[in-house]
Amino acid sequence: MKVFKFGGASVKDAAGVKNLAEIVQTQGQGAVVVVSAMGKTTNALEELVRAYVSQRSDGMQDKLQTIRAYHENVMQSLTGDFSSVYETFDQLDAYLRQPIAGHYDEVYDQIVSLGEVLSTQIIAAYLSKAGLSTRWLDARQLIATDATFREGRVDWDETNRRINKAVKKAAVTVTQGFIGQTPDGRTTTLGREGSDYTAAIFAYCLRAESVTIWKDVPGVLNADPKWFNETVLLEKLTYQDAIELAYYGATVIHPKTIKPLQNRGIKLYVRSFLKPDAAGTVIGNFEQHLLTPSFIFKVNQLLISLHPNDFSFIAEDNLSRIFGRFAQAGVKINLMQNTAISFSVVVDNNPERVPALLDQLRQDFRVTYNEGLELITIRYYNQITIDRVLVNKKLLLEQKSRYTVQLVAKDIE
Ligand code: ASP
Ligand code: MG
Repeated sequence: MKVFKFGGASVKDAAGVKNLAEIVQTQGQGAVVVVSAMGKTTNALEELVRAYVSQRSDGMQDKLQTIRAYHENVMQSLTGDFSSVYETFDQLDAYLRQPIAGHYDEVYDQIVSLGEVLSTQIIAAYLSKAGLSTRWLDARQLIATDATFREGRVDWDETNRRINKAVKKAAVTVTQGFIGQTPDGRTTTLGREGSDYTAAIFAYCLRAESVTIWKDVPGVLNADPKWFNETVLLEKLTYQDAIELAYYGATVIHPKTIKPLQNRGIKLYVRSFLKPDAAGTVIGNFEQHLLTPSFIFKVNQLLISLHPNDFSFIAEDNLSRIFGRFAQAGVKINLMQNTAISFSVVVDNNPERVPALLDQLRQDFRVTYNEGLELITIRYYNQITIDRVLVNKKLLLEQKSRYTVQLVAKDIE
């Protein structure tokens, strides 16, 4: 059995849905097809959540209408029985008429999850009409999670049991990425861009032969083409290298995706939905590392330095307190460095989370920070690659391990 995953960009319009059908028909008979919300629907639903929670009814109606019109436009150019899609819009409508129930993150998941429901309802209807024996499965009934809304933690035993019971070999199975459910029936999501992870969960439970992530790039490249003109396709990657690249912020694969596949030796292909005959990248248990240097850029980074208020050093008891504060604020540390008298961390400068964290930290430390930085990670670096990325940049901090260097830098004005 194969698992295919199609992201939002691949199904952003009717042509994308037809292209998906073509790929499934030629290469994915009997596959489990995991699909994200169409185009930028997740972002649009996030805005709808904000309008709902602040009870701005005019904004809410506009946003809902835009989302509806977008999906209707896609359906207009396709054939199929789309009645379930209209039912989902009715459910969303009804939900938005209710008073707010639960915390923000819980409300978020009830609304944002519907992007995947809509996209898969449209796609399953189209595939059926196109003559493929298709089953639509509700991933909320299959992916069992705890109640950590927006970052649901998977109950693997329960999920495994449900998936193996539900998925039948013969047909094409169409299901949603990104979404799950708590034991008491409330919808959860697995974190932004989490559909890759869903594909890995299905593959793991079904002991699939492979997972293919269909993307708008030819495969895993050694850098984001946004930043580099001359990128190289990495044809083969070890699980370890793929985990490292995803961990440091290569956005091509969701970081949680690789580990379950590695545990069962399931190959992961990253291929282009625009050139479905090209081989792309294969990730697996290869002996040899590919030594092509890879570059990962993160912008809008903040370097925070903590200095003790008294004359003490940053000792272990301080560190545990510091980590606690970061974890509580939900701010992920991208890099850290401690010296005898200070402790520095680099984080994404998230305006929703960082200011509150800084206030917290100021209770215990003198806090200094430096904004507008870039964090550049190079895997399989050498001096030439370091010099290349630092042209016209001032280096603030550098950390090297055997295979990876991380550079915190600022543009020279
Ligand atoms: N639709 C979700 C998101 O945009 C999940 C995904 O695309 O993987 O974050
Ligand atoms: Mg998406």
